[in-house]
Parts: sequence; C-alpha cells; structure tokens
Amino acid sequence: MMINICEVGPRDGLQNEKKIVTTEQKVELITRLIESGIKKFEAVSFVNPKIVPQMGDAEEVLKYVPKKDGISYAGLVLSNSGLERALKTPVDTLHVVTATSDTFNQKNSKRTVDQSVQELTNVIEEGIKSRRKVIGVLGTAFGCPFVGNIPPSRIINIAESFVKAGAKGITLADTTGLANPNQVKELVSKFKEYFGDDIEIGLHFHNTRGLGLANVLSGYLSGVRNFDSSIAGLGGCPFAPKAVGNVCTEDMVNMFEQMSVNTNTNLKKLIETANWLQDIIGKELDGMLMKL
Ligand code: ZN
Repeated sequence: MMINICEVGPRDGLQNEKKIVTTEQKVELITRLIESGIKKFEAVSFVNPKIVPQMGDAEEVLKYVPKKDGISYAGLVLSNSGLERALKTPVDTLHVVTATSDTFNQKNSKRTVDQSVQELTNVIEEGIKSRRKVIGVLGTAFGCPFVGNIPPSRIINIAESFVKAGAKGITLADTTGLANPNQVKELVSKFKEYFGDDIEIGLHFHNTRGLGLANVLSGYLSGVRNFDSSIAGLGGCPFAPKAVGNVCTEDMVNMFEQMSVNTNTNLKKLIETANWLQDIIGKELDGMLMKL
C-alpha cells in the first residue's frame, strides 16, 4: 500500500504568508523537501503578481529548482494569461483551477464558474499540445463559505468538461475546510461511479475545523491515493475568510506510516524541514509533530 503526496507548501502555503519569502528560500525549501523524499510539488502560481505578490517570482523559482528524474513541478493556472506565462517555463504540470461556487470564483478569478470552465477548456487543450500534464482542481468542492453546499452533480459536470478537454486527473479541493469524512466518502464514490478508473482523483484539504486528517483518512478508505499537503501545515487562502493551513505533510506522513501505508518519505527530515521553515517565516506554524 502506498500513497502519493503533492506538496503544496511552496504555493498554497506561502501564498497566504505576509512575510515575503525570497526566491532563494523557496528553492531551498523545495530542495530540502526533495531530500526528504517528496516527488511532486505545486511549486508556483501564474496569477497576477499585483494581487498575489508572494507568487510573483514563479518563473525564477522554476528556473532554479532541481531538475531530476521523477520530480515534477506544477503551477496554478486560472486563465489564458496564466497559461501564456506557464508555457514559457519548464513547468511539468498545469493545475487548472476553478471554484465550483460562482460567488467564490468571482472573488478568486473575477469570473463566473461557466466563464472559467470555458476559458480553462482552452487552457487544458493548449497545455496538452505543449506536452504538459493537466490536472483540474475544483475549489469549494465540499462547500462554499458564501453560498453553502454545492450539488455533487454540478461538481461532476465541471469535472467532465475538464476531462473531455484532456485533464488526466481531478483534485477535489476543500478550499475553506468545510468537508467532513462522510461527505468525502460520498463525493469520492460519486466520482468513482461516474468516471471509473479514467481519472486520477486527488484530495486537497484545509484544517480550518480540525478535520483535515480525518478527511484524508476517509478519502484513503474510499480508494483515493493522491493527497495534497503542506509542510508544517502552512497555508490558507487570501480570498477565504479565516481559512487556515493545509493538511500538514509530516503529520499526514506520520499517520500513514503508523498505518503501514508507504509514503516513500523520510519523516525525520520532513520535521527538520518544517522547523527550518518556521525559522524563515518567523512565527509558530501549525504542524503537530514538529512541536514534539
Ligand atoms: Zn488550498
């Protein structure tokens, strides 16, 4: 038994930190994480640097991160202009993102969901032509802080548009930490019923209500093997009220290793990296194991 981790700390994690982390420090973070066994990263975001200044150095980060076999870097793309930037870099994977709630998507992308889906369908097709892997990320998939629950049929419809355009996988993201384990089980089983084994399902949880690992476990027991997490539990969302960090990478690794599920990482090194990062950020971070 094993699971695959996508480390989102360099993107989802740092994006919400007020303290600007230098390109050099981001590259060092990623290098340390590779040495700890992490293979997949959501490393950057191709969004307007005026709106998210922490992500302004996406091109530079991708230029300097270690390029090795088996290591892949993803970048977030929300629009055609993001795609244009992404395709000028060596980024391996495009994480094409829309929220599933119109209100949230207007705040995050200044578009309705339909407008995003239409634009991102083109982004996916162009990305594939340029030989990038594409994963569709559906935000607020477990509820929106502004409008409440999103019907699963709507989430499946959006996913289907992305899959038809060529997305290899769909990540269901709980942007503001509203999911509960039963809901995870239900949405995952609906996805498996609808898409079969045609797509890689990934799960992305925030620990806003303390349910991050419970939701990961529910996803795992429902057959999901791809999980996003963030070193030291860093993270949040600049457009979500009071969203706290992602599920913490080293805490999630500990849970799986204790359950004899292989993560192919070195827990001790992950904890060292979490503590190193805490010194850089200059405030106490959310991880639990790093405090032992
Ligand atoms: Zn997130």
